[in-house]
Amino acid sequence: MKHVGEYRDGALAQGIAAAIRAEADPMRSYRLMEFCGGHTHAIARYGLEDLLPPQVRMIHGPGCPVCVLPVGRIDAAIRLAASPEITLCTYGDLMRVPGSNGDSLLKAKAAGADIRMVYSTLDAVGIAEREPTREVVFFAIGFETTSPPTAMAIRLAAQSGLSNFSIFCNHVLTPAAIRAIVAGPEARRDGVKIDGFVGPAHVSTVIGADAYAFCATEFAKPVAIAGFEPLDVLQAVLMLVRQVNQGRHEIENQYIRAVTANGNRKAQALVAEMFEPREAFEWRGLGALPHSGLRLRPAWSRFDAETRFEIETVAAADHPGCACGAVLRGVKRPEECRLFGVACTPDSPIGACMVSSEGACAAQWSYGRFR
Ligand code: SF4
Repeated sequence: MKHVGEYRDGALAQGIAAAIRAEADPMRSYRLMEFCGGHTHAIARYGLEDLLPPQVRMIHGPGCPVCVLPVGRIDAAIRLAASPEITLCTYGDLMRVPGSNGDSLLKAKAAGADIRMVYSTLDAVGIAEREPTREVVFFAIGFETTSPPTAMAIRLAAQSGLSNFSIFCNHVLTPAAIRAIVAGPEARRDGVKIDGFVGPAHVSTVIGADAYAFCATEFAKPVAIAGFEPLDVLQAVLMLVRQVNQGRHEIENQYIRAVTANGNRKAQALVAEMFEPREAFEWRGLGALPHSGLRLRPAWSRFDAETRFEIETVAAADHPGCACGAVLRGVKRPEECRLFGVACTPDSPIGACMVSSEGACAAQWSYGRFR
């Protein structure tokens, strides 16, 4: 496949892996976190860890938008969908994420709630246009890649004069999560010391490479932004090994075919026009992180379902046996959860990390190739 096949070339992959093995010092360890769930799946799918020497270890990070949404926000969406006038529009992955007491949007839909799966924000706007008697709420989740399409949907709804469209906003910010990981207690314990980050691909096309400068300047951690193909990831690992060896901590960009220093200014401006950072936002596994989530600015509050329908989020715990929080912080591997593959499988998930196509537990279940 053109423009893809060349990034999956086995001989080239072996060459990069050989360079990593030659340059990685056997007397030290390299603990590298891939932040993004897309990278986690690429690593599992292509068996990239099998190509790395034992001293180079990949740690799976929290960059899965479905996984980091806490139970309380799922519960709130289920309660909202129970209102007879509401049509809740959501991406497919979210339907199966367990809320409290084993509830889910899928079960709520089976019980009669008007919950519809959509493929884009525009699908939700279309439903609001076609069904003016329904209050259509889009369950907006995701990192900086998905907030611009949500902003665009609001702009379209405003231009069309729609008064029956709103969003339940759960957009989150990547740099805040990386900051929490490098500044958090786990980062100070030897057991989970992280030596560098493989930076996200899609997110970085929007926010730009410079958004990670704090990793280098404040925490002396190197970052190598990588594309999603296997050669991209391997090359980023080699870049990080070299930085660690040379005592450098810089923001390097392997994904130069898509990521620039400043990112997509148009998308950033659109998001900044409509959204502002919340004081704090609760993440599964990471807790309440300051300025880590977005909400609509007051000028756009008529599109804010939290205000319009007085949505209240009540903190709720994960299933007591579920280790999603620890998996998302990189302190446990999926197979270290005692429910993995026993009570928790993709057919009957107990935690969000087994549901989402970007979740680490789903990757380990599908490919079984993490070490
Ligand atoms: Fe949670 Fe299931 Fe993963 Fe365990 S295996 S951490 S229960 S998602």
